[in-house]
Amino acid sequence: MKELLELYNTMGISSGVYAYGEKTLESLKERFAEIDKIAEHNQAKVIAAMQKNRVSAACFAATTGYGYDDVGRDNLEKVYADVFHTEAALVRPQITCGTHALTVALSANLLPGDELLSPVGLPYDTLQEVIGIRESPCSLKEYGVSYRQVDLLEDGTFDYDNIKKAINDKTKLVTIQRSKGYATRPSFSVKQIGELIAFVKAIKPDIICMVDNCYGEFVETIEPSDVGADMVVGSLIKNPGGGLAPIGGYICGTDTCVQRCAYRLSAPGLGQEVGANLGLMPALYQGFFMAPTVVAGAEKGAIFAANLYEPLGFKCVPNATESRHDIIQAVELGSEEGMIAFCKGIQAAAPVDSFATPLPWDMPGYNDKVIMAAGAFVQGSSIELSADGPIRPPYAVYFQGGLTWCHAKLGILMSLQKMVDAGLVTL
Ligand SMILES: *Cc1c(COP(=O)(O)O)cnc(C)c1O
Repeated sequence: MKELLELYNTMGISSGVYAYGEKTLESLKERFAEIDKIAEHNQAKVIAAMQKNRVSAACFAATTGYGYDDVGRDNLEKVYADVFHTEAALVRPQITCGTHALTVALSANLLPGDELLSPVGLPYDTLQEVIGIRESPCSLKEYGVSYRQVDLLEDGTFDYDNIKKAINDKTKLVTIQRSKGYATRPSFSVKQIGELIAFVKAIKPDIICMVDNCYGEFVETIEPSDVGADMVVGSLIKNPGGGLAPIGGYICGTDTCVQRCAYRLSAPGLGQEVGANLGLMPALYQGFFMAPTVVAGAEKGAIFAANLYEPLGFKCVPNATESRHDIIQAVELGSEEGMIAFCKGIQAAAPVDSFATPLPWDMPGYNDKVIMAAGAFVQGSSIELSADGPIRPPYAVYFQGGLTWCHAKLGILMSLQKMVDAGLVTL
């Protein structure tokens, strides 16, 4: 222990910050054990799916060109479909990010004259231009898809009365964002999402329910597709890529929905038949295999952060004790200086680019200036330890990831150290 503290000291962490961290950890043993149980369950689920689909070295071969008869790619999609308990899956490096996956899912399943409903308030920043809430060329709005939104109630629960009123003849697809994104609302449990889906389908059974599953995968033992979602959508540089996938997105769901997504992504008539894997299969398979334990480490980091910062007077969402439904931890730092200091700490603890200083900048797709700290092996990967947030009240930093719990711990300790150094916190 003495050697470790000395090592941390040389990296810039004071004995006071370290001791405060250790004291905090004392109280978290039981919660960490629960997380390990969930990881064990999800690990078994992934291995069982890989065994059932007879994953072998042949699946790791690179393909180029059209990618016809790509065994590795087709089999990976079967593995995803089995883990998410869906009829079909589209898992592709040609899906460039989470926003792209969601755009494909929406634009493939909404036609001119249809209406999209978000019963969970304003969607994630980048989706606002996709939908046309903020004007953009090629938005769904431009293609004649209208949009309706029902905000959450004060207490963060669903406004069932107004959701019922908002559903009409045109309502074709309901989008449910599991994770809070850049908002300070709670993230939803899979059970809550299931209740919302059941409510919507009782009113209009043929509505397609899509869940933006970003940051939620493997946090619980069930996924939204286990409780009635027609499509679950996410990014491979978040949870399911396990930190190893260098790019990609997935859409798991019904045959009908996923086939339309494939037609939208490539071309009508071509669908899932084309799309070479470019040699990425080892990373996509191995990343999915690693994902349950990586997610567990990230979640421990999120819980550690909440338990470290909340007693110091910073509002944390989720708070120190409540249950978790994604890997994101919002810490309201109350000022731009606080956000900068926190992010500096995350950056300084990174294995890559630790010498860089994060600064607020105008990022495409976002309305306010955004600060981002990340020293990642995969650029922009937010399953790797990262912190970011838009520079706007309540000046919340959204902290997530950590490929290993030990790195998450170091990053959080370093963030606190920078807050202390900046005179924003006294221990
Ligand atoms: C990250 C995220 C997205 C968008 O994913 P990108 O890969 O950044 O495009 C969408 N929704 C939520 C809730 C997210 O967290």
